[in-house]
This record gives sequence, structure tokens and C-alpha cells, in this order.
Amino acid sequence: MFESLSQRIRAAVDKLRGRGRITEADLKATLREIRMSLLEADVNFEVAKNFVNKVQEKTLGQAVLESLTPAEQILSVVYEELVEMLGGEAKQPLLKNEGNLWFMVGLQGSGKTTTSGKLAHFYKSKGRRPLLVAADTQRPAAREQLRILGEKIGVPVLEVADGERPETTRARLQQHLTFDYRDLVIVDTAGRLQIDQALMDELAQLKQVMGPSETLLVVDSMTGQEALNVSKAFDERIGVTGLILTKLDGDARGGAALSARYVTGKPIYFAGVSEKVEGLEPFYPDRLAQRILGMGDLQTLLEKARQAELEAPQKDLKEITLEDLITQMRQMRKMGSFTEILGMIPGISRMLPPGFSVDEKQVNRMEAIVLSMTPKERRDPRILNASRRKRIAAGSGTTVQEVNRLIKTFEDTKQMLKTLAKQQARGGRGLFRR
Ligand code: GDP
Repeated sequence: MFESLSQRIRAAVDKLRGRGRITEADLKATLREIRMSLLEADVNFEVAKNFVNKVQEKTLGQAVLESLTPAEQILSVVYEELVEMLGGEAKQPLLKNEGNLWFMVGLQGSGKTTTSGKLAHFYKSKGRRPLLVAADTQRPAAREQLRILGEKIGVPVLEVADGERPETTRARLQQHLTFDYRDLVIVDTAGRLQIDQALMDELAQLKQVMGPSETLLVVDSMTGQEALNVSKAFDERIGVTGLILTKLDGDARGGAALSARYVTGKPIYFAGVSEKVEGLEPFYPDRLAQRILGMGDLQTLLEKARQAELEAPQKDLKEITLEDLITQMRQMRKMGSFTEILGMIPGISRMLPPGFSVDEKQVNRMEAIVLSMTPKERRDPRILNASRRKRIAAGSGTTVQEVNRLIKTFEDTKQMLKTLAKQQARGGRGLFRR
């Protein structure tokens, strides 16, 4: 899956290789091709459009990085956006110490039963004690399939009876758990070939009675755009907490599955990659994006970006002091105007309103204020009491109000940097420092 998508995106970006500069028209042509390749891979129309818009926005707003060629820079933005589209950070279903009750929902044939068995096997190998529940009250064959699977992986299976009521199932489960301790119960619910009102009602009722801690929707990647309609319908009617994509080893185009996260807003937890019980992998957006874009290319790119980061050692943003501020100001003075420099910092330029400018006179006064402080005061403005502030104002030829404003601005900036640093630590995947 995704081979042709991979080839086409890379070909589009490859056309830019060897160019020192690219125009906006070049960029647009490349983005058009990327959009076509996404659509051809069956990525949802809205998703493809949004993807390309974001890449364009980011690429144009980004400062030119000397260590990267334009092609590399675009590739890296495409990579970042692809990871984002697939959900960003890898996520796992909520797994408490005990009392985990997971519902598996999805259409018949999606791979729901197989995936229930795979999950039980996966968590058993991690030291959990899973129990499978075969909860299709109408299809004995479905229950039998799970029973056989359970035997194979050595996980007990609790089967409902034909037409059993949800309250009875709940009571039987509670009863079972009193003599057989289990910390993860995986309920393989009923599936039908199509979205069916009666089935939805039944599932909603079972869910209400049992109160699962996760409701995992199993989505067949081979079914194209239909998979997205099904996902939306299940989420609207039952409420879904996460997705599992099956049959990613198939030869379908797969783009619809790639859109599932964006369309439903739910994280993709796992991917099914074979019929075997071992064929289930935690879903890593970054790894899949790397696979789609070609590992080799990205490796080099990531290394270069890392190198650039090493060569420009950064102070821990949280530790910044007024002394740093003054050093920065002096350096910036050497390089050009404050406004110009702000515009060069990736990430900042996009945050500034158009036509933004800094009053250079104001900067001079700020510098004078900081210079009138003792080194100790610059390092720790908290010691600045009223009499110190008065002394500084007099020394710098400014007013106490101005001194107060500077300190306030500094504290606000520090707070903002702290938030940014936290976001960065959480995001943690960016190719570039922001
Ligand atoms: P259910 O009706 O939703 O319970 O679907 P099943 O679990 O019976 O699966 C339907 C078919 O899909 C079976 O033949 C499975 O072996 C197959 N299947 C399920 N998951 C995968 C997968 O990740 N890869 C492949 N290749 N086949 C799968």
C-alpha cells in the first residue's frame, strides 16, 4: 500500500532538486502535483485540499535555511504535515491497571474479530490478562470464530447466548470476573455488512449498559471512501474513541484510510498488517510518513536539520534573563534593524501582523534601562523594589512607568517562551526549531 503515492510525491519534489531558488510558481506546480497524487491515492478531497494549503502556507512563511535546499525544505514540510494528518504523536488506548473494558465495533468483514484476537494476543504478551467476549447475539458463527481464535492464543472467551439482553451479558461478565481475574476485557460486538439501524440501536444499548472505557472502531483500509462514511456513522451513533486500520498490507490505494484520522478526529491506535495473529502494529504517524516519503531521503534530511541544531546551541528558553535580552539586542543591532530580524526568525514572522514594525527608539530606551541595572538585578528582576526602580529610571533618563513596562514585557515574554518550550517538548517532532 502507498507505493504509488510514495513514488508520485517523491517525483514531484524531485523536480525541484538541483535548483538554488524556486519561485512561487514552481512551488504551486509542485503542490498541484502533490494534490493530484493524494487524490489518486484516494485521499479524501477535503483532506487533500487542506493538506496542500497548509504546506503552501508553511513553506512560504518559513525562513530560508542555509543548510537545506529548496527541495529538501519542501519535503520536510510535506513530511511534517503528513505526520500531522496521520495524527501527530503516536497514541495508545487508555490502559488502566485494571477494569479496562474495550468495545470493538465495525462492519462485518472489516477484521473486527481477527483484530480482537490480535489485541488480546498483543496485550497478553505484555503481561496483561485479557478476556475476550463474543457479543454477537445473532450470529453463532461469529462467536465460534472468536472461540477458536481464543483457544489458539490461550485467552478465554465468554460467549453471549442467542438474543441475550445487555443486562444479562453485564451480569455474566461480572460473575466471570469474580472467579477469573482479568484486567482487560475486549468485547467483539456484532457486525453487519452495512450500517443498519437495528444494529446501531443494539450497540448503543449495549454500550450504555456496559460502559466501555474505550470504543475502538475497526476500519477496513481496502474499502476506500466508504470507510470514511462508515466511520462517521459509527462515531455519530455510538461514539468512538479510537481507530484501528486493518489490511494495510493489501494492495488497495489506501488513501481513504490515511484520511480517517482527519475526517473523524479520532486517533489511529493500531494497524493490521497481516491475517496472522501477530499482524498488528501500534500506529506511528511519523514512521508511516517516512515510509511514504522514502526513508533514505528523510534520513539525510533529518541529519542535516539535527546538525544545524547542533551548530546553533540554544539557551534553555526557560532560563532567559534580562542580561540575555541585552546581549541579544546588541547582537541584533550589529545585524540590522530589530524589525528585520524578528521577521527572519522562523515561526515568529508568521505570528506578526502584516506591516508590523518595532519602534527602534523604544529599543534604545529599553537598552538604556537594562544598562542602568546592576548585573544582579538583570539576572533576577524580582528583586526590583520601588526604590531600585526609581534609581534605574533616573540612571537611564526614563520614567518609573517605562521601567515597569519593560519588566512586565519581559515577564510576559518569558511566560510565552515557557509555553512555547512546553509545546515544543510535547510536539517534539519538528524538523526545525521554531
Ligand atoms: P469481522 O467480520 O469484522 O469480524 O472480520 P474478520 O475478523 O472475520 O476478518 C475478515 C477477513 O479479513 C478475514 O479473512 C481476516 O483474515 C482478514 N483480515 C483481518 N485483518 C487483516 C489484516 O490486517 N490484513 C489482512 N491481510 N487480512 C486481514
